[in-house]
Amino acid sequence: MKNDWNARTKLVHSGTRRSQYGEVSEAIFLTQGFVYDTAEDAEARFIETGEDEFIYARYGNPTVRMFEERIAALEGCEDAFATASGMAAVSAALTCGLKSGDHVVAAKALFGSCLYILEDVLARFGVEITLVDGTDLGAWKTALRPDTKLVFFESISNPTLELIDVHAVCDLAHKVGALVVVDNVFATPIFSNAFDLGADVVIYSTTKHIDGSGRCLGGVILGSRDFIRGTLEPYLKHTGGSMSPFNAWVMLKGMETLDLRCRAMADSALKIAKAVEGHEKLARAIYPHLSSHPQAELAQHQMTTGSTMLAIDLKGGQAAAFKFLNALEICTISNNLGDAKSIVTHPATTTHQRLPEEQKTDLGITPGLVRISVGLEDVDDLTRDILNALMAA
Ligand SMILES: *Cc1c(COP(=O)(O)O)cnc(C)c1O
Repeated sequence: MKNDWNARTKLVHSGTRRSQYGEVSEAIFLTQGFVYDTAEDAEARFIETGEDEFIYARYGNPTVRMFEERIAALEGCEDAFATASGMAAVSAALTCGLKSGDHVVAAKALFGSCLYILEDVLARFGVEITLVDGTDLGAWKTALRPDTKLVFFESISNPTLELIDVHAVCDLAHKVGALVVVDNVFATPIFSNAFDLGADVVIYSTTKHIDGSGRCLGGVILGSRDFIRGTLEPYLKHTGGSMSPFNAWVMLKGMETLDLRCRAMADSALKIAKAVEGHEKLARAIYPHLSSHPQAELAQHQMTTGSTMLAIDLKGGQAAAFKFLNALEICTISNNLGDAKSIVTHPATTTHQRLPEEQKTDLGITPGLVRISVGLEDVDDLTRDILNALMAA
């Protein structure tokens, strides 16, 4: 579509396809299949599918296509494929191009399901995995080998908000010819463009900020037309991880307000981080745009805000963390993020419960750690809620 539009315009208009009725709001094409006028037309479409032509919703659907084109325009990349969930996106992007004997290097601070795909699934099919401390460029350099085919990491890690220097790691990976796949969920498409920093493939769980109201699961894989249509599409259309048209419509509507929501949430997150920093009940407050963040300089350089997420570590450990969670009146206890509702999570006993103690310690997931996804509520109300709950802890 239009390449000279700025982000907010793309978020509202890119990818829109109108039916013969000229509807204003994007239509939901809740159809699995498509009809052909003649047998010859059906045959022709199976030989080559044109841009406005579809065969079966597992391969593509007009509503899903609108969403793919809108987010590809926003990211400034050639193409995108939307998936049923963020994990469908991660598993397809990692699996579609790898074969037995290939070597993968990944950051060890990963979403639990991403680790499962690497260590349980891919390893079972003979892919060799090396996990590194993603913040340590020396560790990446040592782990990368001439036969490394793929590099995978989250640009900001969950839940401790460590940053990976995307530009530097891409440079190192490209020297050995590896494909760099970045899970950019915590950075959002608004605060950091991983393609500009050198990534080859970018993934989002659209369940998070892109839906933004906690309704639907979804994911998307972005990259070159060659990768998306040549390598990924055959894999996904035959393995069946496509996004549903209804969910694509929810994501399209979420895109319209994505920039406004993410900026409002990040503004509040910074204010809250400043309000709680140095609090007597806290061992640390982690937010990438606080000067106390160990990678504050990289965060300033790599991201236009410090993201919508922050983490706090209560001195009193798990007991204090639970008291804090239970005393909150506005923030809800759950495990989604990027939602309009502020959400608090205790990673050690929920999302990261299954990790062995030593691995939790290694990843900084202490008993007092609480992850806060800052929502769209009034920031003064949120700050008061959090400070009151800290007093109760
Ligand atoms: C949530 C999340 C995923 C998985 O997405 P789903 O939509 O839940 O499948 C992957 N990576 C990161 C960083 C996430 O936050």
